[in-house]
Amino acid sequence: MYAMKSSNFIHKMFRKYYRSEGSSMLEAPPEIEKREFGFIMFEGGMLRHKGFKSKDELVTFMKDFAPSDAYYSCAYYENPEAEMDEKGWLGADLVFDIDADHIRTPCNKVHDSWICVNCGFAGRGYTPEKCPSCGMEKFEEKTWPCEVCLETAKNETMKLIDILTADFGFSPKEVKVYFSGHRGYHVHVESETVQELDAVARKEIVDYIIGLGLDVNFHGFNVYGSSIIGPSLDDAGWRGRIAKGTYEFLLKASANDFKRLGLRKRTIEKILSQRNHILERWGQRNPWALLKGIVGKNWIKIAEYGAKFQTSQIDTVVTTDIHRLIRLNGSLHGKTGFRKIQIQQNNIESFDPLKEAITFRDGALKVFVSEAPELRVGEETYGPFKECKVELPTAVAMLLLCKGAAEVLNNV
Ligand SMILES: [Zn+2]
Ligand SMILES: [Zn+2]
Repeated sequence: MYAMKSSNFIHKMFRKYYRSEGSSMLEAPPEIEKREFGFIMFEGGMLRHKGFKSKDELVTFMKDFAPSDAYYSCAYYENPEAEMDEKGWLGADLVFDIDADHIRTPCNKVHDSWICVNCGFAGRGYTPEKCPSCGMEKFEEKTWPCEVCLETAKNETMKLIDILTADFGFSPKEVKVYFSGHRGYHVHVESETVQELDAVARKEIVDYIIGLGLDVNFHGFNVYGSSIIGPSLDDAGWRGRIAKGTYEFLLKASANDFKRLGLRKRTIEKILSQRNHILERWGQRNPWALLKGIVGKNWIKIAEYGAKFQTSQIDTVVTTDIHRLIRLNGSLHGKTGFRKIQIQQNNIESFDPLKEAITFRDGALKVFVSEAPELRVGEETYGPFKECKVELPTAVAMLLLCKGAAEVLNNV
């Protein structure tokens, strides 16, 4: 937690935002009067079971209280302000959360750290399930919005959008994409066809997307010794994705990558010597027939591996929770001072969260930084910092303050 003085300062800055441009940035969810709202307050604690009749009411609340974090329910309720079992669940949007916390990236080791709340044992990289020292399961984590992590999460998001539109047939208008303001992306499907799906039905959608139980043998393969029929790039659903995954693997794989799949040296040599020929013709029907002298079961191994990279690493718990609270669009993220922002689907590839979600663009602040890794905000890179006084652009200083990695010096 941040020191009192810094907490007051962040609160003051958040309030300033909601009383100026923030009021027009906030996006009320459809049918706002049926949603439950929840807020994390700077004064401490979480306020839940709030309801608003209109966007104006919500905006007034945000101006008055300027919470650290603001959420609304993916669900629609008869009585959003009632206790959980008396709300009268009417349906829910289908929401997806893709967060770098759930994706293994090589840089987590460098910039993330954790400390056991019970005994103080600390480490870097992924938080373990149990403390190696005392065995307890409660940690304080420090994670950072880093470029590599954010780019990885964005790739997973693009794969998800492709599955939702191509395989499930949602129109681009029904699928809204957002940057969360911290380390990930949110995808909301707002369509009548999904509203009444229960948790079990949502779990089936999740399983399809993460490829749970996917057996490539059932997706267009017919293997007789070294003669093989398999799926093509223009096949629908997982068939096409398996063909694409295999192509992408073949494009980049080294001899070692094949070895890791358990292929023998002679087989690997055969594949590598034919690689260009295979890749050039991969767009044809049954490209697998091009492969001479390699037994079918080896291709199945490659196809299984390629298919894995076509799945999207969503947070499975979020999607199946039909009461989930999700961050309000246009509101600030209490851990960064960035805001949740919508992304147009045709711009997602070039979208740069570390530029576009910046909120506090004016001026500079003097802060004392206890510890922070190197960070890019906007065009510039800052840090790493350790025990030092620095003057930084407001957005960078706010990020460090919100992370609890810095304290304000005489700005207040
Ligand atoms: Zn411990
Ligand atoms: Zn990273």
